[in-house]
Amino acid sequence: MPDDSPARLRFAPSPTGALHIGGARTALYNWLAARHSGGELVLRIEDTDRERSTAENVEQILDAMGWLELDWDEGPVSQASRAERHAQALQRLLDSGAAYRDSATAKEVEAWKAEHGADRGYRGQPVDTPGAAVRLRVPDDGETVVEDLIRGPVSFPNRSYDDFVIARGDNSVLYNFAVAVDDAEMGITEVVRGDDHLSNTPKQLLVLAALGHEPPRYAHLPLLHGPDGKKLSKRHGAASVQELRDAGYLPAAVRNYLALLGWGTDDDTTLMSTEELVRRFRVEDVGKSAAIFDEKKLRWVNGRFMRELPLDEYTEAVGRHLGRQPDERLRGACAIAQEKAQTLDEVWALIGFLFEPPVDDEKAWRKVMVDGALPALEAARAALAEVSGFGSTEIEEALSPLPERLGAKPGKVYQPIRVAITGTSVSPGIFESLAALGRDEALARIDAAVGRLRS
Ligand code: GLU
Repeated sequence: MPDDSPARLRFAPSPTGALHIGGARTALYNWLAARHSGGELVLRIEDTDRERSTAENVEQILDAMGWLELDWDEGPVSQASRAERHAQALQRLLDSGAAYRDSATAKEVEAWKAEHGADRGYRGQPVDTPGAAVRLRVPDDGETVVEDLIRGPVSFPNRSYDDFVIARGDNSVLYNFAVAVDDAEMGITEVVRGDDHLSNTPKQLLVLAALGHEPPRYAHLPLLHGPDGKKLSKRHGAASVQELRDAGYLPAAVRNYLALLGWGTDDDTTLMSTEELVRRFRVEDVGKSAAIFDEKKLRWVNGRFMRELPLDEYTEAVGRHLGRQPDERLRGACAIAQEKAQTLDEVWALIGFLFEPPVDDEKAWRKVMVDGALPALEAARAALAEVSGFGSTEIEEALSPLPERLGAKPGKVYQPIRVAITGTSVSPGIFESLAALGRDEALARIDAAVGRLRS
């Protein structure tokens, strides 16, 4: 924040669905700004849309925040539960004359609708309350300026606002009014949210001014796009935080990649620890243009985080993801897969052969089990049967003379062994894979492959 004094931020999701990647980035930026300044983060659930806001959706948001390891200092506060405070603020504006009741006659409403469309609320009113509403007095001229921390000043001429509706006839307040009252009463100093809210900000500023509150500072984040330049959506891959988790990403990697979407550096695959993000993050350093979410880059970043994990933590994470005990056997399997997998999801494809019989991939068989495969497997079998000890070093020593002896390239010897023991042509290192499998099982699988080749 401009002066680095402790800031009070809020993340204010509407619980109308899962937390998506754009929302997760907004949550992360608020969290980083709060932690960077030594300030506080309030979680406010904007649940005034009673039909679309479900307890299940709230649960999903809390679950997503928990998985991302983003904590908050106050809340979750339900916006709907603050209705009493909203009504009091509304009454103050009615008392001071800054707001007034507008009760159009049925005839006026009809005439307006004939001109503007029957499906629209009379002069900006909610459609469900025809003809009676509370409006805020907006000056006819002048302009309202949003001093945006990212975009600089953005001005909106007041004449485009009419006297806008802030509550229905029954005093239930509308969205922009509730947000302005809540931000002020919760002592929010910085509002960091998506660009799609920029056009709401002048209305919120007008409400704050009428109530005599100092406005917070605003930062509107450019939207996220997919690699094709279109607004981010499901077709660009994982869309919600839960989908990222299920796809086997690590929260720290997701935080790293999301943080760099629009902030920090031109290279959004730079690796940064969360401590470093907290130390360096400033919302005014966020770029003005849309950032591109590219799941391929996230995979790469995730792979780097996975490789860096201590083996115990790696095994824990894999165990959790696969629903398996993180025991010695899994630990041994993880040890040989750690260099190769980019997501937790990919680990099973690499180590599954250690836990269950191989399923032959027919394409790999056709490609690899060709001329020369049979003598290679026979020679390998003989060497493996005799090697003393069955560690990867001994196995390597026993197998490495074979290519020369058989007059074959190394791949022509090792790939058939790989296909024989794993069923596929992609696996962790061949010597480590054999060692992890153990001599008896390795020989049995090679025998089975030899049998198939001879038949
Ligand atoms: N509830 C709004 C949303 O989920 C955010 C409002 C705000 O941050 O001011 O889009």
